[in-house]
Amino acid sequence: MKYAIIIPDGAADEPVKELQGRTPLQAARKPHMDKLARQGRLGLSNNVPDQFTPASDVAMLSVFGYDPVRYYTGRAPLEAAAQGIKLGPYDWAIRCNLVYIENEEMRDFTAGHISSEEARDLMATLQQSLGTASWQFVAGVSYRNLLIYRGQAGGPFSADTKTQPPHDIPDRPIAEYLPSGPGSEILRDLMERSREVLRHHPINKKRQAEGKRPATQIWLWGLGQAPNLEPFERLYGKRGAIITAVDLVRGVGALTGWHRIDVPGATGYIDTDYAAKGRYAVKALTDYDIVCVHIEAPDEASHEGKAEVKVWTIEQIDQHIVGPLVEALTTYPAWRVWITPDHRTTLQTRAHARGLVPWIMAGTNIAAENFLGYDEFEAEKSHYRFAEGWRVMRMFLNPD
Ligand SMILES: [Zn+2]
Repeated sequence: MKYAIIIPDGAADEPVKELQGRTPLQAARKPHMDKLARQGRLGLSNNVPDQFTPASDVAMLSVFGYDPVRYYTGRAPLEAAAQGIKLGPYDWAIRCNLVYIENEEMRDFTAGHISSEEARDLMATLQQSLGTASWQFVAGVSYRNLLIYRGQAGGPFSADTKTQPPHDIPDRPIAEYLPSGPGSEILRDLMERSREVLRHHPINKKRQAEGKRPATQIWLWGLGQAPNLEPFERLYGKRGAIITAVDLVRGVGALTGWHRIDVPGATGYIDTDYAAKGRYAVKALTDYDIVCVHIEAPDEASHEGKAEVKVWTIEQIDQHIVGPLVEALTTYPAWRVWITPDHRTTLQTRAHARGLVPWIMAGTNIAAENFLGYDEFEAEKSHYRFAEGWRVMRMFLNPD
């Protein structure tokens, strides 16, 4: 049996005025997804247990068939894994955003979408000024960088060390959202001292001269230790390959032993090369039991509050990824496809939201159940409701 999983990140939504009271999934022209919905079943899953913030780190673990309650240790360790950084038993990975603070408010959690090249320079300077053998500043992509703490038994942090994702506090006073709990004074101190290091940095001077936002300081958050994920192949007996442009998702793949396929032109943004992703996915089917394609674009369109763009990203996914992939699948004697957003991202709030996500499952030994098409309301009619989304994988892979 060949399997494909397609993850349109953040595609699930609510009805909005701009789309005449429809959801983006309802408004999108997506003949391939709708056909699969008619051929197979719809369902609903909760991929984010109540104690977690709704985001792709937790939700993606669920989609991959891992209970976040048992396996989730933080966002940064997943991103470290994507970069090939090994964490020892006492090490911690910490997200190190380059941010723009103005009037002590979080004006921009991306420091003006600073380029990776500029960020690399700033991170090198931070390492020289604040880094040690135990504290390693590691450059990533754009504003998304890491701080690795190489520790010993009895280190400073614990599960009670609390930090704040900077993208959730737009224009708010940062004083109310600084790290707290065990070891947090170290994090606050590094954040404070980074201001002086970055203030007169030539990269920032240049950015300001060009009318761009400087990186005024680092923001530390999302810390965690290495998660202990059992290999997917051992848990589920299948070999998988994943296509994604997002480090966080790559990290989940890396830690569970999925092969990573890099696609030229995949950007992790609205302008990604949808057709290239489709082509690479089709090609990967020959070598792997499961091929997973993750597309970040609908989530990004939601964060920007652009309804028409979100609809367009769903249509691109349908035409360039779902269509070719299903066509290729049907040339095999047995196949299945599962299309599921990881979490909801609503246009109205421009933020991730809790709640059930609608999905489609179709293929061999899955009978048609009279669904009319694929959207949130149609899925409400389904009796496949998973309060624990990580359990869906088992059903998807079960051949009967
Ligand atoms: Zn998002």
